[in-house]
Amino acid sequence: MAFTLPDLPYAHSALDPHIDTRTMEIHHGKHHQAYINNLNGAIEGEGSLSSKSLEELIGSIGGLPPAIQNAVRNNGGGHWNHSFFWKVMGANGGGTPSGDLGDAINGVFGSFEEFKAAFVKAGATRFGSGWAWLIVNSAGKLEVCSTPNQDNPLMDVADVKGMPILGVDVWEHAYYLNYQNRRPDYLNAFFNVINWDAVSQNFKDLK
Ligand code: MN
Repeated sequence: MAFTLPDLPYAHSALDPHIDTRTMEIHHGKHHQAYINNLNGAIEGEGSLSSKSLEELIGSIGGLPPAIQNAVRNNGGGHWNHSFFWKVMGANGGGTPSGDLGDAINGVFGSFEEFKAAFVKAGATRFGSGWAWLIVNSAGKLEVCSTPNQDNPLMDVADVKGMPILGVDVWEHAYYLNYQNRRPDYLNAFFNVINWDAVSQNFKDLK
């Protein structure tokens, strides 16, 4: 069963002006599709691997045939990360989380503004390409971290492990058309499109 591109849960223009329509069209239709094509190519002919879920594949990269480990890490990670990323954004996004998640953020970071500063810093200081995450770590606590390339905290090969509840793509393809080299501006604008209902649901689902 080959992996397929999930539809965006909103129009390509829904995140304008914070993330522009053309960036969304290329990012979803070209970049995400390419990760899926390359992932399917890597596991084609690998027998039982084709019946594994995406989470099973990226959670056990070290156990895969060595010849396909890098391809699954890069492209399986790319598929998981982008599928997740589309869902934590939305039209009418932004604001701040309330309820349990709001309380947990205040408890760990001191305030929403301090959390935001830590998250933006994690994305801005990730050298080269990668992602910034808000995760529930293996101790059950919220933590901000970042990963290189298309790695994520679900991977057995990740430095920091946990379950992402929010993530942002800091590859140049995610922002260059609109922001050029101004990655911090993009990261601050991202806070205007975060779908906190979806992020809160991700947090709830872990309890
Ligand atoms: Mn991307």
